Amino acid sequence: RFITLEGGEGVGKSTNLSLVADHLEARGLEVVRTREPGGTPRAEAMRRLLLDPFGEEPLDPDAELLLIFAARAQHLARVIRPALERGAWVVCDRFTDATYAYQGGGRGIDRARIAELETFVQQGLEPDLTLLLDMPMAGSQQRLEGRLDREGGRRDRFEGERAEFFEAVRRAYLAQAASAPERMTVVDAAVGLEEVQAQLRRLLDRKLAE
Ligand code: C5P
Repeated sequence: RFITLEGGEGVGKSTNLSLVADHLEARGLEVVRTREPGGTPRAEAMRRLLLDPFGEEPLDPDAELLLIFAARAQHLARVIRPALERGAWVVCDRFTDATYAYQGGGRGIDRARIAELETFVQQGLEPDLTLLLDMPMAGSQQRLEGRLDREGGRRDRFEGERAEFFEAVRRAYLAQAASAPERMTVVDAAVGLEEVQAQLRRLLDRKLAE
């Protein structure tokens, strides 16, 4: 089975990814934890190409989109498909819903063009379950600012984006969830961590019982 975690910056994705993976492992399942863009050495190099500001040279939105799908093709071939074929569970931090959210909603690329690449690269493979951690911008921005202060400022191109960009990303994520209600579940991440995690455990147990 293939589970993905999605959500904007500062919604607690990494903490909750560990919870999801630990919960499955505790039931004796083999779990592969991975992330996008990246997940293999070569795909991580593509991630650096994507995130590094390279001075101030803008990255063309189509080049950004292709780079993400190139990294995804590598990740699918080397990590995700082999793991699923041997019966492991794959828990991935971001996947194609992030592309619809960031490159679609954020950068304004037409959905249909993203869908073409999705078909080309994934050939029908999609997550069995996608957990979208959602919270209003004010909360996630505050958490992000705290993280940037602790880590000594911006690390990548995206952390310089304005609030409107992240609002558009959030809206596109919610639209994705509305268009795929069977696969995607919106988890309210604005409540306390305990409550978020209790909800995640419930959703996973339901999936395990299928
Ligand atoms: O998940 P994480 O926060 O580590 O992602 C790193 C950066 O890559 C984020 O700032 C996110 O905005 C960006 N990203 C993107 N498009 C994707 C996936 C991630 O712009 N499809």
